Amino acid sequence: METTYDIIIIGSGLSGLICAYILSKEGYKVAVLEKNKQVGGCLQTFVRDRRIFDVGVHYIGGLEEGQSLDQYFKYLGIRDTLKLQRMDMDAFDTIGFEEDDTTYKMAQGHERFVDSLSQQFPKEHHALKKYSQAIQDICHKFPLYFLETNKAYPDTYKHLEINAQAEIASITSDPKLQAVLGGNNILYAGRGSATPFYLHAMVLNSYIESSWRCVDGGSQIARSLVKQLRKEGGTIFKQKEVDEFVFDGANIKAVQLTTGEKLTCKHVISSAHPQQLSRFVRNESGRLRKAYLNRIQGTKATSAIFSAHYTLKPNTVKYINSNYYHNKTDDVWNTIENNHKNWPSTYLALTPKTSGSPIYADSFSAMCYMDYDEVKDWGNSFNTVSNESPRGASYEAFKEEKASLLLDQLYKRFPELKGNIVNSYASTPLSFRDYIGCPTGSLYGFERNYQDPMRTALAVQTRIPNLRLTGQNVNIHGILGVTVSAVLACIGFVDREKLLTDIISAT
Ligand SMILES: Cc1cc2nc3c(=O)[nH]c(=O)nc-3n(C[C@H](O)[C@H](O)[C@H](O)COP(=O)(O)OP(=O)(O)OC[C@H]3O[C@@H](n4cnc5c(N)ncnc54)[C@H](O)[C@@H]3O)c2cc1C
Repeated sequence: METTYDIIIIGSGLSGLICAYILSKEGYKVAVLEKNKQVGGCLQTFVRDRRIFDVGVHYIGGLEEGQSLDQYFKYLGIRDTLKLQRMDMDAFDTIGFEEDDTTYKMAQGHERFVDSLSQQFPKEHHALKKYSQAIQDICHKFPLYFLETNKAYPDTYKHLEINAQAEIASITSDPKLQAVLGGNNILYAGRGSATPFYLHAMVLNSYIESSWRCVDGGSQIARSLVKQLRKEGGTIFKQKEVDEFVFDGANIKAVQLTTGEKLTCKHVISSAHPQQLSRFVRNESGRLRKAYLNRIQGTKATSAIFSAHYTLKPNTVKYINSNYYHNKTDDVWNTIENNHKNWPSTYLALTPKTSGSPIYADSFSAMCYMDYDEVKDWGNSFNTVSNESPRGASYEAFKEEKASLLLDQLYKRFPELKGNIVNSYASTPLSFRDYIGCPTGSLYGFERNYQDPMRTALAVQTRIPNLRLTGQNVNIHGILGVTVSAVLACIGFVDREKLLTDIISAT
């Protein structure tokens, strides 16, 4: 007999898996449908020359005992299963600039963060204290960020309308310190004319609280969650791409896959990029308001990314327990705009942490912005489970050229790489588009804009009564951001008070 699921979840990224776990634990019959061979979405890893590389998660914040993500992960039953490496207490991130020999350090713990940067900016101690307080204060406006469950959301949107660049400039007039505080803004694809201060604050605060690398890659988070989900009776189907919704009256009664197969359900939660909604309702125009779909189609995406991964000769390059963010100039809030004329205007470089090589790194990764237009000539080729069309020699040559250009930049800061690279592997916005399912390979989904915050904030509940949304476009991106988005999507199926009490009291 055909199975009817209580809830079908589209996508096995972190938000989809968390929804599936919570709802299975609460007794619902749940199935996750994932289009890829591997679960995890941005948590996926891949292997080259027997080295493990992360697609999308290089470090995680807020996992110290009692911090928010620690508590969420305890509730999910995965906290103790994770192999993590605490990053350098004195410098989880280091920030550098082309014409400046100093490397600026961001330390873990708010006090340490302030004291350490105060040593590099002795006149700015007061400003740094103010900055540290300001980012914590704005994070407190979002009750689930610190799991402040008895607190209500503010009744105005004023806190969403503060510009990050301007707010930092109002705290310190030192242009170098301003550049340092925004110098790792690849973390949220920062743009001076758009980025809200709350986004900057939520991301930075979580790493200042505590920063951790996943040893042997972030896919362990997805694997642990899948085990937990299965224990609760949930099901995951891989290589099942949702193509369309089938309706009965006002509600979705089934999801149809690209294979034509249909799975019946009472509710759907989608973690796929919201632009896919137009595809899912394509034969049922009017199910979602045209204005809503147009708004989603028209919302600016965050920049896309080019990643280069280099495998190293054994015992040559030491593992570095910090990330390094490089900026060509102090104009850190315009790196996306300036990228085409000065590629790469900024980059992130790091050594992944593996259990097999405690002192030396066995690989090196770097990423920098890349406009989708740079790869649009190959845009009609797809590299997906159901449709593999190789992009050809010209694409491979393009990737090689870019990886080599980036390497020239890396050699300046990491001369120890010279002569020690075995192979390089690159991915472009097309790789992200195809593996994650975000239309232009955008890094973090929709761009948040302080000038029009509500336009880019999608509600969990849609106009289709039994369709909800979750994931990085609903709340914010990042491991903590999408964890909160999953909790939000489950409230209603589960009593809010009960769920939050269970999360807070998990051990
Ligand atoms: C390069 C990069 C680096 C990052 N680094 C960090 C970091 O260091 N720390 C951090 O905290 N965050 C980081 N992030 C952000 C973080 O990884 C993401 O915000 C988060 O993992 C997104 O989770 P999600 O559940 O919203 O969706 P996703 O991970 O995007 O998952 C969506 C899933 O849905 C599937 N899907 C899509 N369409 C369909 C369909 N039609 N049918 C079936 N399945 C479908 C996709 O295949 C995918 O598996 C990074 C992101 C990127 C891209």
